[in-house]
Amino acid sequence: MTADSRSDPAGTLFSPDVKLRHTVRRENGERTLVRVGDAVFGGDRPVVAAGPCSVEEGGSLLRTARAVAASGADLLRGGAFKPRTSPYDFQGLGESGLELLAEARAETGLPVVTEVLDPRDIDQVAAVADMLQIGSRSVQNFPLLREAGAVGKPVLLKRGMMTTVGEWLSAAEYVMESGCRDVVLCERGIRTFESLTRNTLDLGSVVVLRRLTHLPVIVDPSHAAGDAALVPDLACAAIAAGAAGLLVEVHENPAAALSDGRQSLTPDAFAEMLDRCRAVASALSGRPVPGA
Ligand code: PEP
Ligand code: MN
Repeated sequence: MTADSRSDPAGTLFSPDVKLRHTVRRENGERTLVRVGDAVFGGDRPVVAAGPCSVEEGGSLLRTARAVAASGADLLRGGAFKPRTSPYDFQGLGESGLELLAEARAETGLPVVTEVLDPRDIDQVAAVADMLQIGSRSVQNFPLLREAGAVGKPVLLKRGMMTTVGEWLSAAEYVMESGCRDVVLCERGIRTFESLTRNTLDLGSVVVLRRLTHLPVIVDPSHAAGDAALVPDLACAAIAAGAAGLLVEVHENPAAALSDGRQSLTPDAFAEMLDRCRAVASALSGRPVPGA
């Protein structure tokens, strides 16, 4: 078998310049399970990470964390370092945000996934994070990918809004080249001509990746939708497409959120969404990998 055909078990999807060593599905079909605390990405049930877009002070993070924990979330999400399009928008609380995440973990028991934006912050973020998030805008920051893969924490790698599946898997190769085996991919929508949703949720990538890679793939319906009203249906569709979990923005009071309030669910809406997603997951459990 040539290196090129190994990199493309589906046969025709990639041009020969996409070289995959670590991410490609194993011949025996064995899949990677990524453990973060008690959660197992790629295991029997979908893993759900939930929390605010940005970590906020004044007890806000803690109230949201308690609410998502009570509904059965597996991880707490929240950014202390925020990649904002405008330098005049809230940039995150930085170090004090990390402290708030540690406090929320101590109280709720939920492991924490949080974004690292700058290679210079990796040690500081990794000291608190149970899982490092690499955001959409950083998916081809190659020094960041290499360093994130070297710190010994699981990595959640979001799809870039302009990256193909091949480029996204190549980004995962950078993380894994540094020795990290615990990579979870996160589809969050791509840029298309459509403007009614913030991004276009590409569920085709989830199905294709179940065939192409052994890594778990989860979906972020919040950044795809840009509108909380659309999030529950997209989340259910993601689970139906075989996603190994969800990353969802939830805020105790979305109207007051410092970022992405419009797409953030209230705790009640989140609880309802989870019930529906669980029903979808149990209806479809045990289905085969497409094309395997
Ligand atoms: C986020 O998860 O808050 C975020 C910034 O997402 P993305 O990188 O997908 O835009
Ligand atoms: Mn956000």
